[in-house]
Parts: sequence; structure tokens; C-alpha cells
Amino acid sequence: MSFVHLHTHSDYSLLDGYSSVHKLAATAKKHGQSALALTDHGNLHGLPEFYFACQKQGIKPILGTEAYMTNQMSVREKGRTHLLLLAENITGYQNLLKLSTASYRDGFYYKPRIDLDFLSQHSTGLISSTGCMASQVNRFIAANQLAEANKLVERYIDIFGRERFFLELQDHNIPELTSINKHLLEMNKRWQLRPVATNDVHYANPTDATPHDIMLCVQTGAFQNDPKRMKFSSDAFYLKTRQEMAMLWGREALDNTLVIAEMCNVTLPYKGYVLPKYQEGINSGELLATLCQVDNPIAQERIDYELSIINSMGFADYFLILYDFCKFATSKGIWWSVRGSAAGSMVAYTLGITSLNPLEHGLLFERFLNPNRVNMPDVDFDWPDDDRATMINYLAERWGQDNVAAICTFGRSGARGAIKDVCRVTQVPLNEAVTVSNMIPAIPGKPCTIEDALNPDHEFYSPELVSIYNEKPYLALATQLEGIVRSVGIHPAGVVITPTPVGDLLPLMTTTREAVLPNITQWDMAIIDKLGFLKVDFLGLRTLSVLRLACSMIRDAQYDLSNIPYSTDDELFEIYHNGQTDGVFQVEGVGMTRMLAKMKPTKFEHIIAAVALFRPGPMQYLDSYIDRMHGREPVSYHTPELESILANTYGICIYQEQIMQIAVAIANYTAGEADDIRKAVGKKLPDRIQYHRNKFIDNCIHGKELGEIIWNDIEKFARYGFNKSHAAIYAKLSCMTAYIKRHYPKEYMAALLSLETDPKKRSQYLMSTRRMGIGILRPDINRSGFHCTIEGNDIRLGLCVIKNIGHDISKRLIENRGDIPYTNITDWLDRIPPDVRRPACEALIGVGAFDSLGNRQQLTSYLSKMLGYSKSMRKSRAVGQLSLFSTPTNEWDNTPPHTVTDPVMLEKELEFAGIYISGHPTLQAKLSHRVSDIIDIEDQVGIKLCGLIVEIKQITTKKGELMAIGTLADDTGSCRLTIFPKQWAKNQYKVGDVLIADGQGQYYMEAPSFILHEAKRHRSKN
Ligand SMILES: [Zn+2]
Ligand SMILES: [Zn+2]
Repeated sequence: MSFVHLHTHSDYSLLDGYSSVHKLAATAKKHGQSALALTDHGNLHGLPEFYFACQKQGIKPILGTEAYMTNQMSVREKGRTHLLLLAENITGYQNLLKLSTASYRDGFYYKPRIDLDFLSQHSTGLISSTGCMASQVNRFIAANQLAEANKLVERYIDIFGRERFFLELQDHNIPELTSINKHLLEMNKRWQLRPVATNDVHYANPTDATPHDIMLCVQTGAFQNDPKRMKFSSDAFYLKTRQEMAMLWGREALDNTLVIAEMCNVTLPYKGYVLPKYQEGINSGELLATLCQVDNPIAQERIDYELSIINSMGFADYFLILYDFCKFATSKGIWWSVRGSAAGSMVAYTLGITSLNPLEHGLLFERFLNPNRVNMPDVDFDWPDDDRATMINYLAERWGQDNVAAICTFGRSGARGAIKDVCRVTQVPLNEAVTVSNMIPAIPGKPCTIEDALNPDHEFYSPELVSIYNEKPYLALATQLEGIVRSVGIHPAGVVITPTPVGDLLPLMTTTREAVLPNITQWDMAIIDKLGFLKVDFLGLRTLSVLRLACSMIRDAQYDLSNIPYSTDDELFEIYHNGQTDGVFQVEGVGMTRMLAKMKPTKFEHIIAAVALFRPGPMQYLDSYIDRMHGREPVSYHTPELESILANTYGICIYQEQIMQIAVAIANYTAGEADDIRKAVGKKLPDRIQYHRNKFIDNCIHGKELGEIIWNDIEKFARYGFNKSHAAIYAKLSCMTAYIKRHYPKEYMAALLSLETDPKKRSQYLMSTRRMGIGILRPDINRSGFHCTIEGNDIRLGLCVIKNIGHDISKRLIENRGDIPYTNITDWLDRIPPDVRRPACEALIGVGAFDSLGNRQQLTSYLSKMLGYSKSMRKSRAVGQLSLFSTPTNEWDNTPPHTVTDPVMLEKELEFAGIYISGHPTLQAKLSHRVSDIIDIEDQVGIKLCGLIVEIKQITTKKGELMAIGTLADDTGSCRLTIFPKQWAKNQYKVGDVLIADGQGQYYMEAPSFILHEAKRHRSKN
């Protein structure tokens, strides 16, 4: 006989349970237990993942939760208790979903809670018990309120039936619990409930007790050695064997776990795809075909082929749903771009979902969708930042508020976070924690574990970490905390759309933070996808906002995404040739800029290749590509088929689509099968790679020998190959931004300066605007709009660049001004809205918005008086004591206009606008170079320049000497600054110092760098 654990917490019991559902399922299997329940605290986050984990182990999943109970879920009171709930059948499962959703929606107060009345209405198919020590029954018993305990149990029996309500017995070496158990058994003479033994599992194995304990400290913010902190009573909260449980409980209580396991039978009710129907009563496939009629026979042939696959896979409604919201976006003038493989679909192009003709660019449908793939297609949409919410609201309106939900996402402990957590709990000094955790590389999209960093064969191997590993016991502990669920959030893009209320199909939660959609799923993207739900990814992309704003300023043409002539204009490429890539989509980085200047692209196709090649792996082919492009390296092909496929990229296989085309052309693959080569190589699946290798070589129409040569090439390229659909769409956006920047530089830079929120980048754009010969005018209370605007050959900064002035205040300042400029400060004070307070006024003065009306310094000194005047005027006016027409003249109206540029004023500009507007603290005489020149220098000594230290950090060299690295800037740009130990020992410069410096210019580690040899302070900060 065996045993089944019916009370189990995984790490989805946030920072309370330690083990993953996979580890729990595997451990139960190892103990020979035929089933396992999951009962996380107050949520159902882990259910599907647990279900699949159990299936994989060949054991039965029992789906449940340990709910939080309260007296009345609508009342916000603190006390709450626990209740174990297990789904016996599908009705019970559906009730679990309802209870859980309601616990968030209607019962949330610190925790998601339900009450007995609500439970009694949704109790069918559920099994429950007297619960753990924190249950209401046991709380009553512990408080010696035995009558209440009796009454409550009778209520439970009434709700669940005697067959489905059990006497739960736990033994955790707690005197209080022992006494509760004694009472329970005694009282059960009256109740006659079946006893069942559980272990309140919080981790899989005995050895997990320590990391679990550390995790508790993380949750409670306690130190490990604090004697008073919350701690579990023993280290026995693991998945025990039957033998171990038998030491605590008699046979009946053990056997009854098997009885319950036998009773519980739930198959997850998700089959096929869960898609709303575009329109009731119509044939979606036929409608789709009607919408996709075109004149061109070649295009129509491709469309018909795609439609046959789309219909056979049941995705007609999917395309119609996308078509529907794109049509809405068009009607509202909302711009968008689709990223990813969807650009390969001629149907999507014909429906207006995507904007590049796949036939013109060799984009393949099978890369997007083919019968060998089992998932729902995945299309990611980029919207202008400020239109994303409009689009999501449209989905809610079109498909019903109840039928759409945002998707949750789980934050898991990364290596760095785990090290910091353990260090905090074990009181390792913060600077050590930071130093050690920083030994783990943090590259976006490339997670690295502590184990990876210790592995000499891994790309992120860190000898530094190895050298300290043995002296730092917390590192071993940290590895055990990596990957555990630490927090729950909302996915930034995902939205699920369902045919019926989403809460009937999956559990929902709510958030206390501001969110576009009130419904949020309790399951994450991977599970939503796996269960066949329709989801769309709506991302915000600032480039679209910039492009739209720039186009709105253009006077001599009306551009939108459909007519910016990026494909017929040669001049736009000058932007790439001349390194003017600031603010140009996808190519802003210094490395990319230099590469493009070297490449000298002349065709759209070149930009696609640049986007695809400029990444860590394929970078190695870049030089070859450029040399071949300019005829400096010969191009040859193994076979004529390869020539027709690879000619566009000079014989270099850059795109996944090319690999697929080669397999089709010379090894008799279907395009769908060929897509699997990419996946096999990309995901490093040795069996699949071997399979394709054999198949490819055997089927090669040019014989096995050549087949092997070509396969070896393919396998190499497939490792790095890029999705051409994605690269082409990004290249298109890049060329569009380059076109507008080339032909409408003022409009483009004004839009960029308006919408960039990062001060560092904004100041970079400001400098590059000046380099382009465009003047920058300070914000002006009488001239500025919210965004930056164009005045003659200059850009007038908008109120949007000023700190302390939000969108609303700006709007009202501009509205109150109307067509009548403010004649003096008093006039302005009379007309300002009441919520314009001191910080806003300080900022307006500081950036020079009143320069035409007064002197910055004097106005600052009058500010308190000015605000006092404004306040008393408002009061007088409110009681009708003052006529609107009697504007007096005050002392602040007589200050002279501001003209002189001084350092204090520049610092104020930096403080309130994040940029120097009127000048730059660096001087411009007798220098050999400006900072922006460094970008063109490979390596050159004897450079003399003047620069402001924007950032500086002292570091220790391997020899233990002190040196510094930082950032140096003037009004033309910024570069990396290196000060070696000898120089640093002489002078420790600070942020804000302006230096006249001699040194060496160098292109080092992808960035222009200046190595300081000799310098004198031109100006010190303070
Ligand atoms: Zn409990
Ligand atoms: Zn529990």
C-alpha cells in the first residue's frame, strides 16, 4: 500500500512553498506514490503546469487549493483562516476556478479570500477537510471554543456532504497541534468523519528545508540568525514516504488518502483551440477567401495555398479577428507595425495586417505557420505608446469586457537576485553582495545561472566567481534559490481573447496597480499558449509615435506608414553612410553606426541584412558580406539552385528562410519539414539534427558528396540564421525613419526631442541636432507648444522637456495663453491655473521660459512674492472684489530680459530640462578635436579637447591599483573616459568638472573612448 499527499504547496505559494511543481511530481513518483495534489495558498497559478508535470511522471494530478477564508468577503478585515479544497470532478474544477476568481475580484484584502456563503454556492464537486492548524475549525478548538467548532463542522458537512468532508490530521511536532489532534479525534466520535493524514508539504526533500528557511527570511525580511523570526517548527515539511507517515498515523488515516485520490478525476477541459468566432452564422473560411481575392494570379496562387493550410488548421477566425482590429486601427488613423514571422503570410498582407509584400522579399509562409507546428500562430503588434490602450479597449468592446484578459507573468529569482537575497538574509555586507552578484553576466535575453558561470565550457564562464566560490558558502545556497517564483506581475503585451467569459475557462486575478484590463489570468503566457487560447501581443513602440509626430509637422506632404517612399529613395542611405543614425530605428548603437558607415548600403535589401547580421553570432560573416557586396571578395556557389537563393546576400546564408528554400530546392523537403531544420539546430536537438542530416544528404539531388558539404554549411548558418520576415519589417521601419530624418530633419529631430524621456538620450539628440546645423531655442512661455516645434531653421523646445510640468499643466498653460501672448509676468500670474505651484514655476524660470519677460535670477528671487500675489488675486476674484481688467504692474515686471549665459544658469537648465540649452560648460577654443570626433578615430594620440565629466567611477585594477572610468561630454557628443592609475592618483576628478585634456582617442570595445594623459580643470564643480 502507498500513500498520496493531499496538502502540497509549490513555489507558486509565493515565497512560502519552495519546490517547483515538476520537482514535487518527480519526487512523488520516486516514492512510488500514484497521485499527488497541489494546494497552493489562495491561488491556482500552478495547476496546469502541475497537471502536465504529473502526466509526464505517469501519476494522477489532484487539483486543489488552500483557500483563504474570511467571515464576509466584502468586508475588509484582517483575520483569515485556511481551508483545503480538492476538485473531485470537472464540476469541482470549474467551481475552483469560480471561487478563485471571486476571491480576487470580490474578496481581496491583503490576500484573495472567500467566505462560507459563497463557498456553499460553489461547493459541488469539491472535497474539503477540517484543515491545518490555521483552519477555522482548529482555531476554534485551540481557543477552546468547542461549541463553535462543532457548529462549523456541521455546516461543512452540510455543504460538502459527509462523503466529501474529511478529518485532516497533521503532525508537525507542535504541542498546540498535538492538543488539537487529541480534541479532533475525540470530537469525531460525534461527527463520524473519515480521518486523512497530510503533511502540509512545503518542499520536496528533507534537504530543501534550509533553502526553504532562507526563502521564508526573504519573504519576511528577517535575518537568518534572528531568534524571534518566523520559522517552521521542524524540517519535516517534505514529501514523506508511506513508511515515514506511518510513524505518525494509523493505517486508516493513511489509506484514506488513496480513497480520496481514487475519488478525484479531473481531465483539463481544453481541447483544440479556444477561438472566438468572428461572426455567428457565417462560414469563416469562405469569408476569408472572399476578402483575399486579388488580381495577380501568382499572388492568388500563394493566397489559395495559404488559405488551404489556414482552413485545415482551423485558423480562419484567427485571421479575421486580426483583420477586424487592424480595420479598426485604420479607421482611427492609428499606426502599427507587426513584428515576427507573420510578415511571411500573403493572406496577412492582403488583409492589411502586415505591410510588406512577402513575394517581393522572399518571405515564407511556412516560417509563420505550417501543419507540422501545433501551436496557435503568434503575431506581435507594435503600436505607438499612446495608442496601445485604445487598441486593448477596442478588443474589450468588440469581444466583450468579460471575454478579454491581460496575462500574468511570474518573476523568478535570477542568479544575481538569489545571491543578493541570500547575502541580505545572512548579513553579508551589501558592497560584497553587489560585487559578487555582478560577477554573473546580465545580458538581456540570455539568462545565466551560477552553475553556468562556474562551468569552464559555458560562454559565461567566470573565473572570478570560481576563485571565490569555496570561500563563500552563500553561493551554494544561492544556487538553490535560483528559479523559484518570487512575484506575480502582468505581462507587458499579452492579451487573451475567448469566445465565452474568460473567467469560466480559466482563473483570473486582479491587480491593485493601474491596468488597462481589469481581468488578468492566473496563468502565464506559456500555459495560455499550450492550452490553445487565442492571444495577441500588443506592444508599445516609441518609434511609431516619433514617426507619426514628425509626419504631422511636415507641411509639404502628407505621410503615413503607407506612403513614406523608403523603397524608391536613394538619398535616405546617406543617413547610414554618414553615421547620422541618432534616432534612426534599430541602428542607433555606435557599433551598428560604424558598421553601416563601412558597409555603405545602397538598397533596402542591405538594411535587412544589416539588421540580421549585426548580432553576436552572425557578426563573424559581416566583413565577408561587406567585401562581397563591394566586389572585393569573390562569390561562388556549389549549385545553380544555391545561386538563385543566395545571390541576394552574396552567397552568404543569412536568413532562416534561405535554409528552408535550400532544403526544398535540393533535398526534396516540403517547406513545412524544412522549418524543422531551423528548430532542430536552433534548439540544439541532437536527434533531430542527425535525422535531418541523413535525410538531407540522402535526398540531395546533386549526390551525397555535395549534399554533405552543403548540409555542413546549412548547419553552421542555422545556428545564427535570422527570421527574414522580422528583419525585413524592422529594416522597413528603419528606412522610413531614415527617410524622414534625411528629408525633414527639423521635423524628425523635433519629434525625437519631444518624445524621448531618457535625459541622457535627449541630450544626445540635442547635440546631434546642433551638429546638423539646426538651432535649439529655449522653451518660451509665449511660443512653446507641448511638443517641440519648428521656428524657421530652428527647433523651439516644447514644455514637454521641462521637469515638474506634466502634460496637464502644459496643456492648460497653452490653453490659457490662447492667441493672446502674456504681456508681462503679472499677466501670466493672473492667467495661470491654480495647480501651477512653486516647483513648476522654478522649472519654467530655470529653463528660460520667461527670458523674454524677465531676468532669471531676479524672477527666482521674487518667486515667493509672485506666488503670494497670484494666490491673493485668486481669492479676491473668487469673492468678486476684483475686475479682470485691472492688471497692475509689479516689481517683477520691471526686470530686464535675460541675455547673459552663465554657469549657474546652465546648471539650472540641466536640472530642469535634463539638457544644457543655452550653451555648454565646455569652451571651444584652441582644441584639436571635439568629443564627437572621437567616433571616427581608430587610435590616435595628441588629442586635445575640452569636456565635462558626466559620469565617473573608481575601479580597482587586477594589480590592485585605483583608476577611473566614466563619460566625457561636450556640446557635440559624449565618449567613454578612461583615467589610468598614474593620472588618477594625481587628480580625482568629479562629476561636473570641466577639463581641458590631452590624451588618446580610441575605438575600444564598441565605443569611442578617450584615455586621459594630462589635464587641467577648466572649471570645478563647486
Ligand atoms: Zn494551512
Ligand atoms: Zn498548507
